[in-house]
Amino acid sequence: MLSNSRSAHQPHNHLRCINAALDRARDLCAQKNARLTPTRERVLNLIWQSHQPLGAYQLQEQLAKLSGKSIAPPTVYRAIEFLVNLGLVHRIPSLNAFIGCPFPNSAHSNLFMICQNCGSAAEATHSGLNDLLQSASNRAQFILKSQNLELFGLCLQCNTATTTNGEQVNHDYTND
Ligand SMILES: [Zn+2]
Ligand SMILES: [Zn+2]
Ligand SMILES: [Zn+2]
Repeated sequence: MLSNSRSAHQPHNHLRCINAALDRARDLCAQKNARLTPTRERVLNLIWQSHQPLGAYQLQEQLAKLSGKSIAPPTVYRAIEFLVNLGLVHRIPSLNAFIGCPFPNSAHSNLFMICQNCGSAAEATHSGLNDLLQSASNRAQFILKSQNLELFGLCLQCNTATTTNGEQVNHDYTND
């Protein structure tokens, strides 16, 4: 029922995430007859450099560095728009930043778990949650068109780090 972008919040080989994301993008573009231009591919690659959402301005800066020349904002915005429209990238409204989608073309809940410590965001799909929101909308005679759910908290890695630090403090007390 719950499918997670498994590893976003756990230690993993991120190079595999990047390669898989680029493969998915090439497949999807071929399917939809859309052109993954070098700029679009570069922007997607930049977005996938980590699981931390990036803002348009950061993307513009990094793209300029990568290309060795200044990049006009509309170039970046158009590339982002293309990727968002294909479902390869999501915009997280509260952060006004963009994150790569680990499962474009699949059922979506637009459920994002955002770590307040490291800033990484993991996307999850939960069919039960979708059913719940649909039935709540039905009851309110509301036509549900889209949903976006942002959860804030601590990822596994940051939570573990906090716990470990806590233990160290306790040890210090015991030693005194
Ligand atoms: Zn990864
Ligand atoms: Zn997605
Ligand atoms: Zn974290």
